[in-house]
Amino acid sequence: MPTIDFDTTLMLVGGRWQPGAERRTLELTDPSDETPLARIARGGAADVDAAVAAAQAALAGDWGALDAAERGRVLMRISAAVAAQADTLAWLEARDVGKPLAQARADALALARYLEFYAGAADKVHGQTIPFVHGTTALTIREPHGVTGHIVPWNYPMQIIGRSVGAALAIGNACVLKPAEEACLTALAFARIAVDAGLPAGALNVVPGLGEEAGAALAAHAGVQHLSFTGSVAVGRLIQAAAARNVVPVTLELGGKSPQIVFDDADLDAALPFLVKAGIQNAGQTCSAASRILLQRGVYAQVAERMAARYRALRVGPALADPDVGPLISARQREIVQGYLALIGERGAERLAQPEVPDGPGYWVPPTLVGGADAAHRLAQEEIFGPVQVLIPFADEAEALRIANGTDYGLVAGVWTRDGSRALRMARALRCGQVFINDYGAGGGVELPFGGVKRSGHGREKGFEALYGFSVLKTVAIRHG
Ligand code: NAD
Repeated sequence: MPTIDFDTTLMLVGGRWQPGAERRTLELTDPSDETPLARIARGGAADVDAAVAAAQAALAGDWGALDAAERGRVLMRISAAVAAQADTLAWLEARDVGKPLAQARADALALARYLEFYAGAADKVHGQTIPFVHGTTALTIREPHGVTGHIVPWNYPMQIIGRSVGAALAIGNACVLKPAEEACLTALAFARIAVDAGLPAGALNVVPGLGEEAGAALAAHAGVQHLSFTGSVAVGRLIQAAAARNVVPVTLELGGKSPQIVFDDADLDAALPFLVKAGIQNAGQTCSAASRILLQRGVYAQVAERMAARYRALRVGPALADPDVGPLISARQREIVQGYLALIGERGAERLAQPEVPDGPGYWVPPTLVGGADAAHRLAQEEIFGPVQVLIPFADEAEALRIANGTDYGLVAGVWTRDGSRALRMARALRCGQVFINDYGAGGGVELPFGGVKRSGHGREKGFEALYGFSVLKTVAIRHG
């Protein structure tokens, strides 16, 4: 059985592990049994100042002097070390987030894969030469922004650190990471692995703490040249406002109310596992959760029954027992989801299936399949961030599109059909950042650019595209006659 074998109360600044300036700490709780798990630093503005200064020093020093290929080699070493410690990282994540062990292990391996992908890409981000006036050569150079700030949530810490810090480091930025106060252990463990694998001091700095303290200080810091934020719409607005004050670019990866759309001609046997998994994975606390299942009327009854059967068979339990569904992250999150479950019964919404949850401590909410809600129902409009999926019937392609596009969000959509022309028409007409045809989520999609439209945010992370976001283009024109 792994143990927590490092001092979780320290933060990483300029390559040194140290307590926060005010030496305050916060408690982490194990969501599977509500017991205290560890204490982490409660960083503040002075710690963020120190971290930004350390990042600036790294850019002016060893880190800034590395060739792109050497940055790639460093990232590749970190990737290998993360993969080698996947079991320990999974155990930490399972206890900290309440994430079922196999899902947590998949996240650790995804972190290793992000680092591998960006390690390979580090020396392949080229500029261009541009035909210009006679006697002048014009070219473009992609340069790092400088110091990048990364504010991440608790639901997928490892994956989000991989995609944002991995890409930012590959292009040569120096990072200040503010993990979530609810779950912070894999961020700290990852930073230790990175330092041990040879990441130069100050290239990555980690300041844990509360959003309104360390997070707000980082977002407002005049020494930060780019902000990457993943989290709620409400906080995303604050981050964008802070970025506006400093006139720096910001990537916002926010919430979603993503649909999977099943037409009468779909291969239902292929679709069924994806329909359910995309709703209950990480207990529904997933930005790209398929929380709306749109069913053409000819298959509605059959799919509803088959999904309900799967729901009844779900195993809900402590993360280390590797169930299908673990607890929610916190009592607060449980309260929010229970508030939504209380809407069942209003305006035709009915509970179709709900498995048993454990008795006793743990932030349990039963996975719940809801039928009968119309597309305007709050359950079909608002991000619940819990294991709740809503079934909505539709008559034809036009109605499916109207419903699918009819929320404030636009992150991901899935389309299940055997009609290739319809699949392409839908892919073009859906207002969102990613569309999967006869598939959903596709194993995390490290290679696939990801991000939203509308309230789901803007900017793209993942894939090669992220490297453009984490760099700035400089144009050089040379008159040589
Ligand atoms: P949150 O917005 O409350 O917190 C996210 C992060 O922001 C945390 O680190 C928090 O400490 C920090 N924060 C909070 N207040 C802040 C402030 N005033 N200034 C600066 N930082 C602050 O979100 P959450 O509840 O932790 O996460 C759930 C939300 O995240 C959901 O809406 C979900 O859809 C979204 N999310 C989106 C993606 C994506 O890639 N699009 C991925 C995961 C989660």
